[in-house]
Amino acid sequence: MPPVGFIYIVPLGCHDMNDLETIALGVEEQFEIETRLLENKGPPDFAYDPLRTQYNSNLILKRLLETAPPDALKVLGVTDFDLFSPIFSYVFGEAQFNGKCAVISSFRLRGVPEGGERLHCPPLLDRLEKEAVHELGHTFGLRHCSDSDCVMSYSKGVQCADRKFGVFCSACRDLLFWYMAGNPVP
Ligand SMILES: [Zn+2]
Ligand SMILES: [Zn+2]
Repeated sequence: MPPVGFIYIVPLGCHDMNDLETIALGVEEQFEIETRLLENKGPPDFAYDPLRTQYNSNLILKRLLETAPPDALKVLGVTDFDLFSPIFSYVFGEAQFNGKCAVISSFRLRGVPEGGERLHCPPLLDRLEKEAVHELGHTFGLRHCSDSDCVMSYSKGVQCADRKFGVFCSACRDLLFWYMAGNPVP
């Protein structure tokens, strides 16, 4: 039996709604769970760290959990702002392992801009979609995968992110649906 509830995508600050709809479709396809887009909640000012001039992803996860709709199976925050986790200088995203919430940022995924059009450089949406599936994979209990083609493989940089595919390898996919069926995550 598939899990009950929806995956919600929550824009945090400016983000192209068409891009978010593309991400929502990709997520829905990978997890086979209805995915809904919520209204923009605005920049995550509550998580701003003036010393680091970055946004604390732990605080964003906490807020997403507190404000999750009652029928949310998972909540994914998407932002343009630069995220950090206290032990890392920056993160592409962060997830509550086997939990409810994840957040991703396009900030570090832009890479070197070519021709000045930063927001809509073709690989950005592709990278963001992979990062969305990857972090949501963690919320379902999936760990990093040693198959470098798999969306659950660990990306050290955007080049690694470009190399892998946006889909689960067969082992991760089997595990994902095994966990979704209610089997315990070790
Ligand atoms: Zn990861
Ligand atoms: Zn895998």
